[in-house]
Amino acid sequence: GGSRTFFVGGNWKCNGTISSVDKLIDALNSASIPQNVEVVIAPTSLHIARAQEKLQNKGIEISAQNAWVKGNGAYTGEISADMLADAGLKWVILGHSERRSLCHESSQVVAEKTVYCLKQGVKVIVCIGETLAQREAGDTSKVVTEQLGEVAKSLGSDASQWKQVVVAYEPVWAIGTGKVATADQAQEVHQTLRSWLSSNTSSEIAQSTRIIYGGSVSAKNCTELASLPDVDGFLVGGASLKPEFADIIKSGS
Ligand code: PEP
Repeated sequence: GGSRTFFVGGNWKCNGTISSVDKLIDALNSASIPQNVEVVIAPTSLHIARAQEKLQNKGIEISAQNAWVKGNGAYTGEISADMLADAGLKWVILGHSERRSLCHESSQVVAEKTVYCLKQGVKVIVCIGETLAQREAGDTSKVVTEQLGEVAKSLGSDASQWKQVVVAYEPVWAIGTGKVATADQAQEVHQTLRSWLSSNTSSEIAQSTRIIYGGSVSAKNCTELASLPDVDGFLVGGASLKPEFADIIKSGS
């Protein structure tokens, strides 16, 4: 993980009941969060208020899983960054592969959302990653740098903006499949992304931006991945709903 503050996100996706949220938050309230690890959990929009009420652990913050591209208005079914900020949320996940594939969100829309959320003071976990077909075609670097490139087009070399952004590299073939990237595969892409940032933004931004890994992270594989020089944390789906999330948090210390 290098010198950057380790970041562990828990993406609860479209899961939960009031009582399962209560149980998860109870468990997190008694989890010990290492000083040098930042922990952010993302319940559904419906469960965020409940999670905020129950959460007592000061080492954990709450994130939304998505936001609309603009502010309040005639956008039925959407939630704006204005609302997230008003509700005291510090973070939002944008461009998750499930939203890119199932809801047809383009990299342009993800970049627009990023700009809007940052403007409202909501920090962004922006997700990128290649499909299996793209990896097999040898296009991984091209795909992930193009996805990150759209965000970079909007943020430019403004270090104060990039400080509010965490990049989540999530190979689509590894999400929810139990097929985790190998240490070599993860390090290679993370390093590619960091050197791309260095060439296309600034070396300061490249050195300070957290690039976290997501895709079937578990208590079993997190220690090796956390030790990689360019892996600055994790975005965890399935395992964030289980007790092992506490072990994944500890792997960053
Ligand atoms: C995710 O949803 O971001 C994710 C990485 O899921 P999982 O850990 O279940 O693969």
